[in-house]
Amino acid sequence: MSADPPWLQSGLPHVWLPYAQMKTAPAPLPVVSTRGARLTLADGRELVDGLASWWTACHGYNHPHVAEAVRRQLEAMPHVMFGGLAHEPACRLAARLAALLPAPLSRVFFVESGSVAVEVAMKMALQYHLNRGARGRNKFVSFRGGYHGDTFACMSVCDPEEGMHSLFRGALAEQLVVELPTHERARTAFEAALEAQGENLAAIIVEPLAQGAGGMIFHEPGVLRLLREAADRHGLLLIFDEIFTGFGRTGAMFACEAAGVSPDVLTLSKALTGGTMALAATVASGAVFEAFWSDDPAHALMHGPTFMGNPLACAAANASLDLFEREPRLAQVARISAALARDLEPCRALPGVTDVRVLGAIGVVQLERIADMNGLKRRLVAEGVWVRPFRDIVYLTPAFTISDDELKRLTDAIFAVLSRGGF
Ligand code: PLP
Repeated sequence: MSADPPWLQSGLPHVWLPYAQMKTAPAPLPVVSTRGARLTLADGRELVDGLASWWTACHGYNHPHVAEAVRRQLEAMPHVMFGGLAHEPACRLAARLAALLPAPLSRVFFVESGSVAVEVAMKMALQYHLNRGARGRNKFVSFRGGYHGDTFACMSVCDPEEGMHSLFRGALAEQLVVELPTHERARTAFEAALEAQGENLAAIIVEPLAQGAGGMIFHEPGVLRLLREAADRHGLLLIFDEIFTGFGRTGAMFACEAAGVSPDVLTLSKALTGGTMALAATVASGAVFEAFWSDDPAHALMHGPTFMGNPLACAAANASLDLFEREPRLAQVARISAALARDLEPCRALPGVTDVRVLGAIGVVQLERIADMNGLKRRLVAEGVWVRPFRDIVYLTPAFTISDDELKRLTDAIFAVLSRGGF
Protein backbone atom coordinates (compact mmCIF):
# COMPACT_ATOMS: atom_id res chain seq x y z
CA MET A 1 0.00 0.00 0.00
CA SER A 2 1.35 3.46 -0.86
CA ALA A 3 2.07 6.16 1.75
CA ASP A 4 -0.71 8.42 2.96
CA PRO A 5 -1.29 11.49 0.76
CA PRO A 6 0.36 14.72 1.99
CA TRP A 7 -2.98 16.36 2.84
CA LEU A 8 -3.72 13.54 5.28
CA GLN A 9 -0.32 13.80 6.90
CA SER A 10 -0.54 17.58 7.33
CA GLY A 11 -4.26 17.74 8.15
CA LEU A 12 -4.80 14.80 10.45
CA PRO A 13 -2.99 16.39 13.41
CA HIS A 14 -5.60 19.17 13.23
CA VAL A 15 -8.93 17.40 12.74
CA TRP A 16 -10.99 15.94 15.55
CA LEU A 17 -12.76 12.84 14.31
CA PRO A 18 -16.28 11.69 15.25
CA TYR A 19 -16.83 9.03 17.92
CA ALA A 20 -13.09 8.40 18.10
CA GLN A 21 -10.56 8.07 20.88
CA MET A 22 -8.01 10.12 18.97
CA LYS A 23 -5.07 8.50 20.76
CA THR A 24 -5.88 4.94 19.76
CA ALA A 25 -8.21 5.17 16.73
CA PRO A 26 -6.69 3.96 13.46
CA ALA A 27 -6.15 6.73 10.89
CA PRO A 28 -9.17 7.22 8.62
CA LEU A 29 -8.95 5.92 5.06
CA PRO A 30 -8.16 8.71 2.60
CA VAL A 31 -10.97 8.77 0.03
CA VAL A 32 -10.55 10.83 -3.12
CA SER A 33 -13.70 10.17 -5.11
CA THR A 34 -17.05 8.40 -5.11
CA ARG A 35 -19.31 6.97 -7.79
CA GLY A 36 -22.44 4.86 -7.51
CA ALA A 37 -21.80 2.46 -4.64
CA ARG A 38 -18.01 2.79 -4.79
CA LEU A 39 -15.38 4.74 -2.88
CA THR A 40 -11.94 5.30 -4.42
CA LEU A 41 -9.05 5.60 -1.98
CA ALA A 42 -5.95 7.74 -2.45
CA ASP A 43 -3.85 4.67 -3.31
CA GLY A 44 -6.26 3.71 -6.10
CA ARG A 45 -8.10 0.92 -4.25
CA GLU A 46 -11.85 0.79 -4.75
CA LEU A 47 -14.21 -0.26 -1.97
CA VAL A 48 -17.84 -1.30 -2.41
CA ASP A 49 -19.77 0.86 0.03
CA GLY A 50 -22.22 -0.96 2.27
CA LEU A 51 -23.34 2.06 4.27
CA ALA A 52 -24.20 4.84 1.81
CA SER A 53 -22.36 7.29 4.07
CA TRP A 54 -24.36 6.98 7.26
CA TRP A 55 -27.49 6.07 5.24
CA THR A 56 -27.65 9.23 3.16
CA ALA A 57 -26.61 8.34 -0.42
CA CYS A 58 -29.77 6.47 -1.38
CA HIS A 59 -29.31 7.06 -5.15
CA GLY A 60 -25.61 6.17 -5.02
CA TYR A 61 -22.90 8.81 -5.06
CA ASN A 62 -22.67 11.55 -7.70
CA HIS A 63 -26.07 10.97 -9.26
CA PRO A 64 -25.96 13.25 -12.33
CA HIS A 65 -29.52 14.55 -11.83
CA VAL A 66 -28.78 15.75 -8.29
CA ALA A 67 -25.36 17.10 -9.30
CA GLU A 68 -26.88 19.07 -12.19
CA ALA A 69 -29.61 20.55 -9.97
CA VAL A 70 -27.01 21.71 -7.44
CA ARG A 71 -24.80 23.14 -10.20
CA ARG A 72 -27.71 25.16 -11.61
CA GLN A 73 -28.67 26.41 -8.17
CA LEU A 74 -25.06 27.37 -7.44
CA GLU A 75 -25.09 29.66 -10.48
CA ALA A 76 -28.40 31.26 -9.53
CA MET A 77 -28.18 31.62 -5.73
CA PRO A 78 -26.11 29.45 -3.38
CA HIS A 79 -27.64 30.89 -0.25
CA VAL A 80 -29.89 33.57 1.16
CA MET A 81 -31.26 33.91 4.64
CA PHE A 82 -34.73 32.42 5.17
CA GLY A 83 -35.73 35.16 7.64
CA GLY A 84 -37.91 37.63 5.71
CA LEU A 85 -36.89 36.13 2.35
CA ALA A 86 -38.22 33.05 0.61
CA HIS A 87 -37.06 31.11 -2.42
CA GLU A 88 -38.38 28.58 -4.85
CA PRO A 89 -36.24 25.56 -3.87
CA ALA A 90 -37.40 25.65 -0.22
CA CYS A 91 -41.06 26.47 -0.98
CA ARG A 92 -41.25 23.79 -3.64
CA LEU A 93 -39.61 21.25 -1.37
CA ALA A 94 -41.94 22.06 1.55
CA ALA A 95 -44.99 21.61 -0.67
CA ARG A 96 -43.66 18.32 -2.05
CA LEU A 97 -42.86 16.93 1.40
CA ALA A 98 -46.31 17.93 2.66
CA ALA A 99 -47.87 16.13 -0.33
CA LEU A 100 -45.78 12.99 0.25
CA LEU A 101 -46.32 12.67 4.01
CA PRO A 102 -49.59 11.58 5.67
CA ALA A 103 -52.19 14.35 5.50
CA PRO A 104 -51.98 15.99 8.92
CA LEU A 105 -48.25 16.65 8.42
CA SER A 106 -48.32 19.85 6.46
CA ARG A 107 -45.91 22.46 7.86
CA VAL A 108 -42.19 22.11 7.21
CA PHE A 109 -39.49 23.78 9.30
CA PHE A 110 -36.06 23.43 7.67
CA VAL A 111 -32.82 23.06 9.60
CA GLU A 112 -29.36 21.77 8.73
CA SER A 113 -28.88 18.58 10.68
CA GLY A 114 -30.83 15.68 12.07
CA SER A 115 -30.04 16.55 15.66
CA VAL A 116 -31.32 20.07 15.22
CA ALA A 117 -34.50 18.74 13.56
CA VAL A 118 -35.07 16.67 16.72
CA GLU A 119 -34.29 19.69 18.93
CA VAL A 120 -36.90 21.69 17.01
CA ALA A 121 -39.44 18.85 17.28
CA MET A 122 -38.91 18.82 21.05
CA LYS A 123 -39.14 22.59 21.32
CA MET A 124 -42.34 22.51 19.24
CA ALA A 125 -43.84 19.91 21.58
CA LEU A 126 -42.99 21.88 24.72
CA GLN A 127 -44.30 25.13 23.32
CA TYR A 128 -47.39 23.46 21.83
CA HIS A 129 -48.56 22.74 25.37
CA LEU A 130 -47.49 26.14 26.73
CA ASN A 131 -49.28 27.99 23.93
CA ARG A 132 -52.42 26.04 24.79
CA GLY A 133 -52.12 27.07 28.43
CA ALA A 134 -50.85 23.76 29.82
CA ARG A 135 -47.88 24.35 32.11
CA GLY A 136 -45.57 21.69 33.51
CA ARG A 137 -45.62 19.37 30.50
CA ASN A 138 -41.88 19.37 30.03
CA LYS A 139 -40.77 15.75 29.91
CA PHE A 140 -40.49 13.34 27.01
CA VAL A 141 -41.09 9.63 26.78
CA SER A 142 -38.43 7.85 24.76
CA PHE A 143 -37.17 4.31 24.39
CA ARG A 144 -34.23 2.12 25.27
CA GLY A 145 -32.24 1.38 22.14
CA GLY A 146 -33.32 4.73 20.68
CA TYR A 147 -30.97 7.27 19.13
CA HIS A 148 -31.98 10.80 18.19
CA GLY A 149 -28.73 12.72 17.83
CA ASP A 150 -25.82 14.13 19.78
CA THR A 151 -26.92 17.59 20.94
CA PHE A 152 -28.06 17.95 24.54
CA ALA A 153 -31.83 17.64 24.21
CA CYS A 154 -31.30 14.78 21.75
CA MET A 155 -28.91 12.99 24.10
CA SER A 156 -31.51 13.17 26.86
CA VAL A 157 -33.96 11.07 24.80
CA CYS A 158 -31.37 8.57 23.53
CA ASP A 159 -30.80 5.19 25.10
CA PRO A 160 -29.17 6.03 28.44
CA GLU A 161 -25.90 4.38 27.39
CA GLU A 162 -25.77 5.91 23.92
CA GLY A 163 -26.87 9.32 25.21
CA MET A 164 -24.16 9.22 27.87
CA HIS A 165 -26.74 9.91 30.56
CA SER A 166 -24.42 8.91 33.36
CA LEU A 167 -21.44 10.91 32.05
CA PHE A 168 -23.49 14.08 31.68
CA ARG A 169 -25.79 13.57 34.67
CA GLY A 170 -26.86 16.97 35.91
CA ALA A 171 -26.35 18.60 32.52
CA LEU A 172 -28.97 16.51 30.70
CA ALA A 173 -32.71 16.88 31.17
CA GLU A 174 -34.17 13.80 32.82
CA GLN A 175 -36.68 12.11 30.57
CA LEU A 176 -38.78 9.01 30.90
CA VAL A 177 -36.73 6.44 28.96
CA VAL A 178 -38.60 3.12 28.96
CA GLU A 179 -38.61 -0.17 27.10
CA LEU A 180 -40.48 -0.15 23.78
CA PRO A 181 -43.87 -1.76 24.43
CA THR A 182 -43.20 -4.74 22.19
CA HIS A 183 -44.40 -7.39 24.66
CA GLU A 184 -46.85 -7.70 27.52
CA ARG A 185 -44.51 -6.86 30.41
CA ALA A 186 -43.10 -3.79 28.63
CA ARG A 187 -46.64 -2.69 27.68
CA THR A 188 -47.70 -2.83 31.31
CA ALA A 189 -44.62 -0.87 32.43
CA PHE A 190 -45.15 1.69 29.66
CA GLU A 191 -48.79 2.23 30.64
CA ALA A 192 -47.87 2.50 34.32
CA ALA A 193 -45.16 5.09 33.55
CA LEU A 194 -47.63 7.16 31.54
CA GLU A 195 -50.26 6.93 34.27
CA ALA A 196 -47.72 8.10 36.87
CA GLN A 197 -46.20 10.92 34.83
CA GLY A 198 -49.05 11.81 32.43
CA GLU A 199 -49.46 15.44 33.47
CA ASN A 200 -45.70 16.12 33.29
CA LEU A 201 -45.29 14.74 29.78
CA ALA A 202 -45.13 16.68 26.51
CA ALA A 203 -44.57 14.00 23.87
CA ILE A 204 -43.48 10.51 22.97
CA ILE A 205 -40.52 10.29 20.59
CA VAL A 206 -39.64 7.13 18.68
CA GLU A 207 -37.79 5.91 15.59
CA PRO A 208 -40.61 4.08 13.82
CA LEU A 209 -40.02 0.42 12.84
CA ALA A 210 -36.23 0.52 13.13
CA GLN A 211 -34.00 1.86 15.89
CA GLY A 212 -30.86 2.57 13.88
CA ALA A 213 -27.76 3.79 15.72
CA GLY A 214 -28.96 2.05 18.90
CA GLY A 215 -28.29 -1.33 17.27
CA MET A 216 -30.56 -1.80 14.20
CA ILE A 217 -33.42 -3.18 16.27
CA PHE A 218 -36.76 -3.65 14.51
CA HIS A 219 -40.30 -3.63 15.88
CA GLU A 220 -43.77 -4.38 14.57
CA PRO A 221 -46.06 -1.64 13.21
CA GLY A 222 -48.56 -2.53 15.96
CA VAL A 223 -46.20 -0.92 18.49
CA LEU A 224 -46.65 2.42 16.73
CA ARG A 225 -50.43 2.08 16.80
CA LEU A 226 -50.18 1.45 20.53
CA LEU A 227 -48.03 4.58 20.96
CA ARG A 228 -50.53 6.64 18.94
CA GLU A 229 -53.38 5.44 21.08
CA ALA A 230 -51.48 6.09 24.34
CA ALA A 231 -50.41 9.57 23.20
CA ASP A 232 -54.02 10.46 22.41
CA ARG A 233 -55.28 9.08 25.70
CA HIS A 234 -52.78 11.15 27.70
CA GLY A 235 -52.91 14.30 25.58
CA LEU A 236 -49.28 13.92 24.37
CA LEU A 237 -47.83 14.65 20.98
CA LEU A 238 -46.32 11.75 19.06
CA ILE A 239 -43.00 12.47 17.34
CA PHE A 240 -41.65 10.07 14.72
CA ASP A 241 -37.95 10.48 14.10
CA GLU A 242 -37.68 9.25 10.49
CA ILE A 243 -34.16 10.58 10.00
CA PHE A 244 -32.95 7.01 9.45
CA THR A 245 -36.16 5.34 8.27
CA GLY A 246 -37.45 8.03 5.87
CA PHE A 247 -37.14 7.81 2.09
CA GLY A 248 -37.53 4.11 1.55
CA ARG A 249 -35.02 2.57 3.94
CA THR A 250 -37.54 0.27 5.65
CA GLY A 251 -39.37 -0.61 2.42
CA ALA A 252 -42.10 2.07 2.33
CA MET A 253 -41.38 5.69 1.48
CA PHE A 254 -41.83 6.50 5.18
CA ALA A 255 -42.05 4.01 8.03
CA CYS A 256 -45.22 5.71 9.31
CA GLU A 257 -47.00 4.73 6.07
CA ALA A 258 -46.24 1.06 6.57
CA ALA A 259 -47.66 1.29 10.07
CA GLY A 260 -50.70 3.34 9.01
CA VAL A 261 -50.00 5.73 11.89
CA SER A 262 -49.63 9.49 11.55
CA PRO A 263 -47.50 11.27 14.11
CA ASP A 264 -48.03 14.92 15.12
CA VAL A 265 -44.44 15.81 14.28
CA LEU A 266 -41.96 14.00 12.03
CA THR A 267 -38.24 14.60 11.50
CA LEU A 268 -36.33 13.98 8.27
CA SER A 269 -32.69 14.29 7.19
CA LYS A 270 -30.03 11.80 5.93
CA ALA A 271 -31.44 10.71 2.52
CA LEU A 272 -33.44 13.95 2.17
CA THR A 273 -30.84 15.40 -0.21
CA GLY A 274 -29.82 12.05 -1.66
CA GLY A 275 -26.67 12.28 0.44
CA THR A 276 -25.20 15.42 -1.08
CA MET A 277 -25.88 18.26 1.35
CA ALA A 278 -26.66 18.92 4.97
CA LEU A 279 -30.40 19.45 5.30
CA ALA A 280 -33.09 18.35 7.72
CA ALA A 281 -36.72 19.12 8.34
CA THR A 282 -39.19 19.03 11.18
CA VAL A 283 -42.69 18.57 9.79
CA ALA A 284 -45.67 19.43 11.98
CA SER A 285 -49.34 18.60 11.65
CA GLY A 286 -51.86 21.35 11.03
CA ALA A 287 -53.06 20.96 14.62
CA VAL A 288 -49.58 21.52 16.05
CA PHE A 289 -49.07 24.54 13.80
CA GLU A 290 -52.46 25.93 14.92
CA ALA A 291 -51.16 26.15 18.50
CA PHE A 292 -48.55 28.67 17.31
CA TRP A 293 -50.99 30.68 15.14
CA SER A 294 -51.85 33.67 17.27
CA ASP A 295 -51.83 37.46 17.57
CA ASP A 296 -49.41 36.97 20.45
CA PRO A 297 -45.76 37.23 19.29
CA ALA A 298 -44.75 35.10 22.29
CA HIS A 299 -46.59 32.18 20.69
CA ALA A 300 -44.20 32.14 17.71
CA LEU A 301 -41.66 29.34 17.29
CA MET A 302 -38.39 31.07 18.20
CA HIS A 303 -35.92 29.14 16.13
CA GLY A 304 -34.02 29.98 12.93
CA PRO A 305 -30.65 28.51 12.01
CA THR A 306 -28.45 30.67 9.76
CA PHE A 307 -28.39 28.12 6.95
CA MET A 308 -32.05 27.18 7.31
CA GLY A 309 -33.51 26.14 3.97
CA ASN A 310 -30.19 26.53 2.16
CA PRO A 311 -31.12 26.75 -1.56
CA LEU A 312 -28.36 24.39 -2.69
CA ALA A 313 -29.49 21.74 -0.23
CA CYS A 314 -33.15 22.25 -1.13
CA ALA A 315 -32.29 21.96 -4.85
CA ALA A 316 -30.54 18.67 -4.09
CA ALA A 317 -33.56 17.47 -2.11
CA ASN A 318 -35.96 18.40 -4.91
CA ALA A 319 -33.77 16.51 -7.37
CA SER A 320 -33.71 13.54 -4.99
CA LEU A 321 -37.52 13.53 -4.87
CA ASP A 322 -37.57 13.65 -8.71
CA LEU A 323 -35.53 10.44 -8.66
CA PHE A 324 -37.97 8.77 -6.25
CA GLU A 325 -40.73 9.71 -8.73
CA ARG A 326 -38.90 8.65 -11.90
CA GLU A 327 -36.89 5.64 -10.87
CA PRO A 328 -38.10 2.44 -9.21
CA ARG A 329 -36.48 3.09 -5.82
CA LEU A 330 -38.95 1.16 -3.67
CA ALA A 331 -38.77 -1.82 -6.05
CA GLN A 332 -34.98 -1.64 -5.71
CA VAL A 333 -35.36 -1.67 -1.92
CA ALA A 334 -37.53 -4.81 -2.21
CA ARG A 335 -34.89 -6.44 -4.42
CA ILE A 336 -32.10 -5.53 -1.98
CA SER A 337 -34.21 -6.80 0.91
CA ALA A 338 -34.65 -10.21 -0.73
CA ALA A 339 -30.94 -10.43 -1.58
CA LEU A 340 -29.88 -9.46 1.95
CA ALA A 341 -32.25 -12.03 3.47
CA ARG A 342 -30.95 -14.75 1.15
CA ASP A 343 -27.24 -13.94 1.26
CA LEU A 344 -26.82 -13.00 4.93
CA GLU A 345 -28.79 -16.05 6.09
CA PRO A 346 -25.76 -18.42 5.88
CA CYS A 347 -24.07 -16.25 8.55
CA ARG A 348 -26.64 -17.54 11.05
CA ALA A 349 -24.82 -20.88 11.24
CA LEU A 350 -21.44 -19.29 12.04
CA PRO A 351 -20.02 -19.48 15.55
CA GLY A 352 -20.71 -16.34 17.58
CA VAL A 353 -23.64 -15.21 15.43
CA THR A 354 -26.80 -14.71 17.50
CA ASP A 355 -29.18 -13.27 14.91
CA VAL A 356 -29.56 -12.33 11.26
CA ARG A 357 -32.35 -9.88 10.45
CA VAL A 358 -33.46 -7.80 7.50
CA LEU A 359 -35.95 -4.97 7.13
CA GLY A 360 -36.17 -3.14 3.80
CA ALA A 361 -32.64 -2.26 2.73
CA ILE A 362 -31.17 -2.90 6.20
CA GLY A 363 -29.35 -6.17 6.76
CA VAL A 364 -27.94 -7.07 10.17
CA VAL A 365 -25.73 -9.83 11.50
CA GLN A 366 -25.67 -9.77 15.27
CA LEU A 367 -22.75 -11.31 17.14
CA GLU A 368 -22.29 -12.35 20.74
CA ARG A 369 -19.60 -9.71 20.94
CA ILE A 370 -16.88 -8.05 18.92
CA ALA A 371 -13.68 -8.06 20.95
CA ASP A 372 -11.35 -6.56 18.33
CA MET A 373 -13.44 -3.95 16.51
CA ASN A 374 -10.48 -2.38 14.73
CA GLY A 375 -9.27 -5.79 13.58
CA LEU A 376 -12.72 -6.65 12.22
CA LYS A 377 -12.94 -3.34 10.36
CA ARG A 378 -9.47 -3.88 8.86
CA ARG A 379 -10.39 -7.33 7.61
CA LEU A 380 -13.54 -6.04 5.94
CA VAL A 381 -11.55 -3.33 4.15
CA ALA A 382 -9.04 -5.98 3.07
CA GLU A 383 -11.98 -7.77 1.38
CA GLY A 384 -12.63 -4.61 -0.65
CA VAL A 385 -15.74 -3.41 1.17
CA TRP A 386 -16.63 -0.43 3.34
CA VAL A 387 -18.65 -1.79 6.25
CA ARG A 388 -18.42 -0.35 9.75
CA PRO A 389 -19.57 -2.71 12.48
CA PHE A 390 -20.54 -1.15 15.79
CA ARG A 391 -21.42 -2.51 19.25
CA ASP A 392 -22.11 -6.17 18.48
CA ILE A 393 -23.45 -5.91 14.93
CA VAL A 394 -22.19 -5.97 11.37
CA TYR A 395 -24.78 -4.33 9.14
CA LEU A 396 -25.47 -3.16 5.59
CA THR A 397 -27.51 -0.15 4.48
CA PRO A 398 -26.40 0.21 0.85
CA ALA A 399 -27.46 2.70 -1.81
CA PHE A 400 -30.74 1.59 -3.39
CA THR A 401 -29.05 1.67 -6.80
CA ILE A 402 -26.34 -0.82 -5.86
CA SER A 403 -25.90 -3.58 -8.45
CA ASP A 404 -26.60 -7.24 -7.67
CA ASP A 405 -22.88 -7.99 -8.06
CA GLU A 406 -21.83 -5.25 -5.69
CA LEU A 407 -24.37 -6.36 -3.11
CA LYS A 408 -23.11 -9.92 -3.39
CA ARG A 409 -19.57 -8.68 -2.84
CA LEU A 410 -20.72 -7.08 0.40
CA THR A 411 -22.56 -10.13 1.74
CA ASP A 412 -19.77 -12.49 0.59
CA ALA A 413 -17.18 -10.31 2.33
CA ILE A 414 -19.15 -10.36 5.60
CA PHE A 415 -19.58 -14.12 5.41
CA ALA A 416 -15.88 -14.66 4.61
CA VAL A 417 -14.62 -12.43 7.43
CA LEU A 418 -17.05 -13.76 10.03
CA SER A 419 -16.35 -17.36 9.11
CA ARG A 420 -12.62 -16.85 9.67
CA GLY A 421 -13.32 -15.50 13.19
CA GLY A 422 -10.55 -14.18 15.43
CA PHE A 423 -11.84 -10.68 16.15
N1 PLP B 1 -32.15 10.77 14.56
C1 PLP B 1 -31.83 9.58 14.05
C2 PLP B 1 -32.86 8.50 14.00
C3 PLP B 1 -30.56 9.34 13.53
O1 PLP B 1 -30.25 8.14 13.03
C4 PLP B 1 -29.62 10.40 13.57
C5 PLP B 1 -28.25 10.20 13.06
O2 PLP B 1 -27.78 9.09 12.91
C6 PLP B 1 -29.99 11.63 14.11
C7 PLP B 1 -31.27 11.79 14.60
C8 PLP B 1 -29.02 12.78 14.18
O3 PLP B 1 -28.78 13.28 12.92
P1 PLP B 1 -27.46 14.16 12.64
O4 PLP B 1 -26.31 13.23 12.74
O5 PLP B 1 -27.68 14.69 11.26
O6 PLP B 1 -27.44 15.24 13.67
